Amino acid sequence: MNSVVYWLNQADEIVDVNDEWDNFALDNDGNEVVRDKVIGKPLFNFIVGESTRMFVDNLLRRARLRYQETHKFYRCDSPDVKRFMEMRIVPEDRDLLRLEHTIIRREVMTPPVYYQYSPTIKHPYRRCSICNKVLHQSVWCEGSDLIRALPQSSVDAIDAIDVIYHVCPTCIYQLI
Ligand SMILES: [Zn+2]
Repeated sequence: MNSVVYWLNQADEIVDVNDEWDNFALDNDGNEVVRDKVIGKPLFNFIVGESTRMFVDNLLRRARLRYQETHKFYRCDSPDVKRFMEMRIVPEDRDLLRLEHTIIRREVMTPPVYYQYSPTIKHPYRRCSICNKVLHQSVWCEGSDLIRALPQSSVDAIDAIDVIYHVCPTCIYQLI
């Protein structure tokens, strides 16, 4: 599996992306984020959730400040596949960061879990953008475990789990 690679200038605008970016976008219904539509745009236009933005911003600042390569493990799941990912941030020069996202391994998600971003409803679940866990009764758990914990009738009644994006305490701690 090739890495998705893109480059950011100091304003966090996307300067370039590799071919794998388009392949990944198209595989994941990302017609709005194919190459032509993202070049020159701020990366943060494409990151949903204030705490997730702060998390990524923090990583980028750190890479620039220390001027050294840094890496982070995270999850980028689809409804039926857990994708274990690594992000590497490499300062190429003072004005250019290279970001590489690589799939390390995949596992089947059973049962599959569908989410929808629902910032306006009253009690959305919180989903960690880094490890993809969901907060349920004070515990951050796998989405498939949440589905199993819910009564079957309520699972049948919904198309997707309503979430807002967050970063869980474990992932925040790993940033320190
Ligand atoms: Zn997390």
